[in-house]
Amino acid sequence: MPEPTPAEKKPERRLVGVAAAPGVAHGLAFVFLHKSLDVPQYAVSESALAAEEHRFSEALIASRRQISLLRDKVASELGEKEAEIFDSHLMTLDDPALVGETLKMLHAERLNIEHCFRFVTRKYLGFFGRLEDSFVRERAADVRDVAKRVLDNLLGMHGASLSEIADRHIVVAADLSPSDTASIRKDSVLAFVTDSGNRTSHAVIMSRSLRIPAVVGLLEATSLIRPDDDLLVDGYEGVVYVNPSEETLWSYGRVENARSVFRQKMLGETDLPNVTADGLPFVLSANVNGADEMPAVLSCRAQGVGLYRTEEFFFKDTRHLPSEEEQYARYAATVAAAGGEPVVIRTLDVGGDKPHEALFGANFKDPNPFMGLRAVRVCLERPEVFRAQLRAILRAGTSGPVKILVPMIASAEEMLQVRAFMEETKAELRRDGLAFSENIPLGAMLEVPSATLCVDILARHCDFFSIGTNDLVQYLLAVDRGNGRIAHLYEPCNPAILRVLRDTIHTAKRHGVPIGVCGELAGTRTFAPLFLALGADSLSMTPALVPEIRYLLRRTTRAALDELAGRVFSETSPRGIKAVLHAFASERMV
Ligand code: PEP
Ligand code: MG
Repeated sequence: MPEPTPAEKKPERRLVGVAAAPGVAHGLAFVFLHKSLDVPQYAVSESALAAEEHRFSEALIASRRQISLLRDKVASELGEKEAEIFDSHLMTLDDPALVGETLKMLHAERLNIEHCFRFVTRKYLGFFGRLEDSFVRERAADVRDVAKRVLDNLLGMHGASLSEIADRHIVVAADLSPSDTASIRKDSVLAFVTDSGNRTSHAVIMSRSLRIPAVVGLLEATSLIRPDDDLLVDGYEGVVYVNPSEETLWSYGRVENARSVFRQKMLGETDLPNVTADGLPFVLSANVNGADEMPAVLSCRAQGVGLYRTEEFFFKDTRHLPSEEEQYARYAATVAAAGGEPVVIRTLDVGGDKPHEALFGANFKDPNPFMGLRAVRVCLERPEVFRAQLRAILRAGTSGPVKILVPMIASAEEMLQVRAFMEETKAELRRDGLAFSENIPLGAMLEVPSATLCVDILARHCDFFSIGTNDLVQYLLAVDRGNGRIAHLYEPCNPAILRVLRDTIHTAKRHGVPIGVCGELAGTRTFAPLFLALGADSLSMTPALVPEIRYLLRRTTRAALDELAGRVFSETSPRGIKAVLHAFASERMV
């Protein structure tokens, strides 16, 4: 662990949140102000006006330098076309209207320059917001980005983009969007600490797949932590120490040591078969966001990809949608890298906590996003987007075994619509003379309660099922999975959840349709044995968790699993259920 040496030792403070991604990290804080900046407003005297102008021009120069650097980096890494967006940012920075009006207001109102600048940019954004035109929307996005950067520079905060973190820091943010997470460089972020969110918010899932420890739902991290505070983040326990004492650091060193010895022991079983102690086979596959994670999938010996979330690629650039060709190249590379193991590609799941500007427009606001325009609903409403993705996936099927998984299915009718659309898309590909796989199984995610209650009906239209516990829990309990304030109510051990899981798996099996689990619970020590006990055919999780779950399941037997199921269902409270599941795991994780 790096040894930051703060100038003077400040008192230790312990903050408790939700353990979101495992690991321990020690480093300095980078406070990332993603949301509305706290811009002060104060009067300035006439004699201070020149100093305010000077601050403004310094902030504009710094912003220009940062944007030019970013432009060059993107041009060399991704090409000139991708870098064009920064040219429009530079033009916005030079916009005489923005700069001129700000200075005019400074002199007329004698208010501090950041207040004037924000006032003027907001006026522009308000005007843009009333226009529908897509060019204007892009201009608005430029102004918003540039305004934020200039304000960051005026206020002396780093907040423009996570991709700009120069060296290894712990990112402290109010919240993180999937596009923030997609923009980070893995080697520059030691850990994430956020005010909002819980284990299953999408940005957190992405951080887990990047193997970056995270503690979320801390509520006040951004107000309690200052830039460059020394932080110790425990992503196993959900604890953050601000300016940890020597004793805390020392005891963490020991705990880390013990953990890493145990991790080596688990890794030692990587090549052993996936069978329980009495020979019952189980399937462990991986959740990924793209081909760059395939080396991790292969090295943990996952049996293919159980969930390929395709959204991350769409979030590399939120202004444009990737073309069919770009998608095809990416999917085909992932499928080829899987070396003959199946890859379950999930169709686009945007909306909810993943709004996408190019799809919905910059000003789109879904009043109730998780219940709104999300996932398959978006695809059916935007056939041209769905068609491009389905064509790309069907074509990638020529590189190896592929299955298509549709998120957020709520009824058999939706599944029938998707099936019909897929058949039309195949006919189109045939007409176009493009090679594709004719026999790609089509499955539904079971993550909306209505779907779990109609598994028998859906079974007629689905080749396989995958339970998305992240959403299923939020919809069954009516607890927003991304809302840190109610994270304590997001309780998978609620008996209602267990009953739904049991009945869903049993019904699918009765109808002869394979069923797996790909939500975060599949990769937990507590639930993985229970899913096996209930009869799930496969468990899919982030590759880093595969060795641990393999180690645990290899130490179970059919009889022990049956007994576990019996005991769990005789409990009536989350507390009792948790105790049974924990005891089962801890007896074996030694
Ligand atoms: C789920 O809901 O459990 C799931 C796997 O999908 P996501 O987390 O991407 O919504
Ligand atoms: Mg889901």
